[in-house]
Amino acid sequence: MTKITTVAPPEDAALRRAVAPVICYPNETLPEVPLALYQSARAGAEKVDEVLVQPREAACFTVPAGQFFRISSVEGPQVGDLNLWNAKDLNERFYSGKTRALHGTHLTTGERMWTSFPHLRPMATIVEDTLGWYGMDEFGGSVHDVIGTRCDPYTGNLLTDVQYHHCCHSNLTRALADHLGVSLAEAEPHVHDVLNVFMCTGFTRDTGQYFMKASPVRPGDYLEFFAEIDLLGGLSACPGGDCSSEHTSDTAACYPMLVEVFAPKAGALEGWGSPAKNGYDQSHGR
Ligand SMILES: [Zn+2]
Repeated sequence: MTKITTVAPPEDAALRRAVAPVICYPNETLPEVPLALYQSARAGAEKVDEVLVQPREAACFTVPAGQFFRISSVEGPQVGDLNLWNAKDLNERFYSGKTRALHGTHLTTGERMWTSFPHLRPMATIVEDTLGWYGMDEFGGSVHDVIGTRCDPYTGNLLTDVQYHHCCHSNLTRALADHLGVSLAEAEPHVHDVLNVFMCTGFTRDTGQYFMKASPVRPGDYLEFFAEIDLLGGLSACPGGDCSSEHTSDTAACYPMLVEVFAPKAGALEGWGSPAKNGYDQSHGR
């Protein structure tokens, strides 16, 4: 992909390019994550629920505030597209773009999924990531991104004129409609940009294009979260499988994914409470 430019570089182009970047959102002032408290609560927690997500399908699950949920690879390398909502108010949902601005392109242990405006509060905190060792590879790729959107039938139709119905967007729409007992048309607007669980992605250094590569996930790997608020989750086992080649088709090998919910012992979260809604007064200068 060559970018078009009709303008010659100015004389000081090299100087302008050499300006050092500054981090947009230094995140040292974010509320501290009580990771040790979460991990000790998790150590005594018991499994209370599980949902097996079928390949090229999605399923919903609920996690009360103060409980944990784990997403596992079970039979083969498989990536999942995760949506999260406030279980009591679907208008408050995961905000991929702001999470990216706060934590960077990929998430791991101790980082959080943040909710949409005007709430902007943590909804889930990652407490364990068995792929945390992967880091950033030589291509600029890493796992669990918040840079992709979700595979969807509209982009597929735009690019290759297909009608494909098992993209994550459609899978999540069907699962949410079934869970809520509403029509597909009512459910679809609630589906939003995802956390790409286990997916290995980045941007090419030369053209800045979004890339994916075979996920390093193997059966037994998992990503585990602490629910900061009452959550409704939707997880789609992406038709891309391990995303080594393509999605928006039934070509790739796909596997199920397991979601398990764990409840800590009573009193294990002494002193903890759900985060409050964002403190901005919403007067917007009026
Ligand atoms: Zn997908």
